[in-house]
Order: sequence, then structure tokens, then C-alpha cells
Amino acid sequence: MVFRHRLEDMSSAGRFAPSPSGELHVGNLRTAMLAWLFARSTGRRFLLRVEDLDRARAGAEAKQLSDLEAIGVSWDGAVVRQTDRGPLYTEAISRLAAAGLTYECFCTRREIQEAPSAPHAPQGAYPGTCRNLPTAELESRRSERPAAVRLRSAVTEWAVEDTLHGVFTGVVDDFVLRRNDGVTAYNLAVVVDDAEQGIDQVVRGDDLLPSTPRQAYLAFLLNMPVPEYAHVPLVVNADGARLAKRDGAVTLADLASAGVPADAVRRTILDSLGLPGASLDSALSEFDPAALPRQPWIWPGM
Ligand code: GLU
Repeated sequence: MVFRHRLEDMSSAGRFAPSPSGELHVGNLRTAMLAWLFARSTGRRFLLRVEDLDRARAGAEAKQLSDLEAIGVSWDGAVVRQTDRGPLYTEAISRLAAAGLTYECFCTRREIQEAPSAPHAPQGAYPGTCRNLPTAELESRRSERPAAVRLRSAVTEWAVEDTLHGVFTGVVDDFVLRRNDGVTAYNLAVVVDDAEQGIDQVVRGDDLLPSTPRQAYLAFLLNMPVPEYAHVPLVVNADGARLAKRDGAVTLADLASAGVPADAVRRTILDSLGLPGASLDSALSEFDPAALPRQPWIWPGM
């Protein structure tokens, strides 16, 4: 498979890429609305990709898509699912392997936790236990358990540019590309998908900012374009913790049962962004990334 976009795919695009692990809450919906506003206000297409490699729950995808529609987030073309794209990920990992940029790792989570960290290694970085296993040991380890595939990184950090955060430099370690259960790792899939789909603008929650240097470095190694990034503030509860299901009525379904229609939720979210609430289209003309609130939004409840 070749990483060239067909002619009709050449125009630039933004995207929302939910994991179908449960219902979207108002924080996820706010991020989706922001991604839509960023894309549409810059004349981009807006794509929807379901990140179902892991943690997919039956019925969650359909619910997420209908909630996005209810809130006014529309997308172009067909929904793309990561589980349909295995060959693209395999091809990318093969290219890295052919360039000597991968190695097999047999470590358990526990072994990694208990390993002494390498000198000067940043906190939380993989300690490199399996980086240079002798061939004989590789063979015996292979017979014990399946290997994960890690990136043989030549750097320990990498810088990205973010529309809201400016230059952000973060850790790059020998992160996992394919888990030992065969599932493609998120960091690999997201890079391959964004490039292959012609996505050149990534708007998502700022909890993902720390992973972004890894992804940009991987794009660099794969000779893929690095998208423009905007990591937007999360929605938090009254204690400042990331919003979760236990925080009461935080999904459209919960809110609807409490008598709050989707239109009112959209209005409240747009209001939190300083934008007119009549519709997403009406918010578009006033949307200005420079004027966006930079602090987490405390969900006021409805
Ligand atoms: N699927 C990820 C999530 O729902 C988002 C990944 C991304 O936007 O890059 O947290």
C-alpha cells in the first residue's frame, strides 16, 4: 500500500476521532465542536474516524455518532474505522522494521515498572531492556511469549508546535508500535491514519499533548507530513478533575432524561467558548482560536 493520497483526497482536513468505549460526555462533545469549528473556519473538510482498535463497546459507536449529529457536528464522507485498516498499520511497521527502527520487546508491565531506569532517561520512559538482546536470547524469549514491537528511537525528546500551547517539547522513548496481543498501538495508528486521510489539522483534548512529540517524531521517520496541532482545554468537574460519568448528568442521554434537550446543551457549550449558541454555523463566523479560553471549563451542570 502506498501513502499517496488520491487526487480527490488532496484537500486538507480536520477530524474528530472518538474511541467507542462508552457514551460521549459534554467534554468530548465540546472537543468535537471545537474540532469542527477549527476545520470549517479554515475551509477544511471534517472527517470522523472511529478509533476502535481497543476498548470498543457494543453499541457505543452508533450512540456517539447520533449524539454528534444531535449537537450539530456533521462530517464529510464515510466514517472510517481503525479495525478496517490493519494493512496500512502493518505496512508502516514493516517500513520502520526494514529501516532497522524497530525491535521486539518481551517485557511484562511489571518488569518495566521494576527495571532500574536508564541513566538520564526521562521519567516513565521505557528503560530499553530489550533494545539489544543477543540473537540467541531473542530466540528463546520468542518461544516463551509473543513480543511487542517497539520503536528504536534515536532521540529522547522532540518538539511540536501547537496553535494554543506554542512550542511544546516532550519525551520520546522506545514506545510500543504493536502490542504483544497483536493490536496496533494508538500512537502508530493515529499517525498513519492522519497522514493517509490527508488530515493536516489535529484538534483534540490537551490530555493528549504529552503524546504528541512521539507522534510527530514517528511521522518524521515515516516521511509523512506532521499536522497542525491544537490541544484544547478539557472540561472538569467542580473538584478540577477531568469530567467523568460519575459526575452526574454529563451525556446527552442523561441530560435528555433530566429534561434538557441537545439544543440547550449545544448552547451552553458554545457559551462557554464565548460564541453565539443558535447553531454551530452561526458560531462559525465569530470563531477565533486566539480568543479561546485557555483554562479548563468547569462543567456547571444543567
Ligand atoms: N481516540 C482518542 C480518544 O478518544 C483521540 C485520539 C486523537 O484525537 O488523536 O481519546
